[in-house]
Amino acid sequence: MNDYIKSLKDQNKLNISIDKTKTFEWKYTKIAGPCSIESDDIIDIAKQVKSRGANAFRAGAYKPCTYPILQEINGWKEGLREEGLRLLHVVKDLVDIPIVTEVMDASMIDQVGEVADVFQIGTRNFQNYTLLDALGKTNKPILLKRGTWGTIDEILGACERILVGGNNNIAICLRGVVGMPNYRHVFPSIRWAPDLMMVPALKELTNIPIIFDPSHSTGYRNFVEPMSKAALAAGADGLIVECHPDPDKSISDPAQAIDYKTLEKIFIK
Ligand code: PEP
Ligand code: MN
Repeated sequence: MNDYIKSLKDQNKLNISIDKTKTFEWKYTKIAGPCSIESDDIIDIAKQVKSRGANAFRAGAYKPCTYPILQEINGWKEGLREEGLRLLHVVKDLVDIPIVTEVMDASMIDQVGEVADVFQIGTRNFQNYTLLDALGKTNKPILLKRGTWGTIDEILGACERILVGGNNNIAICLRGVVGMPNYRHVFPSIRWAPDLMMVPALKELTNIPIIFDPSHSTGYRNFVEPMSKAALAAGADGLIVECHPDPDKSISDPAQAIDYKTLEKIFIK
């Protein structure tokens, strides 16, 4: 085990209780929303997911894509970017729900931080040390998505970078890893493997909250509900789920987006 994390654990210093003056709680976190902001529909979507049990809203203004020039639709190119942030400000004004959104680069922390209640670090930036160090100096909650390649040491090391900066309000998000999906020829949208065993493995080593992402880790909407249940049964503290009013029409990640009815089943029933 990482000596630093172990020593913090042994001294019971690794206490990631959140700042109670904030409204955000990691335990029982139910984050939902579309992969990315696509239009001003985002305001209604935030209201809808809230009414289906979400206690935090996710939506990417910046959306790193594997093939960056693949899609360009009505101003959406790897997200609506600045326009996406503007729409998130409208959500913030009109809907009472914390906003989780990705920050891709240290230079964007101030701008994204004006609207984000929680900074999401995407899988591609899991070991972007400049970004992790800079976010460690902020006082906002951070959702660190595991790199698809991340070992347990690399996960704990990434957490350590943020913790030593002074920010202990973090959660680890398990979003699937490379390898295994040997049924991809049958379910082509499946790109990653869920690696649920990382939930109890991390629980042995740290009290950092664990949020499970059944959307990216499965890549296929019919698997989102069962894997959500499995993750909570394994001890995950919360979920982050991609949801869209018309899932097949999602600009990014359509195959894994669920509809409102399914979201309600996961979060309320
Ligand atoms: C996302 O949550 O929208 C996302 C891009 O996830 P990841 O960074 O895990 O691919
Ligand atoms: Mn996505």
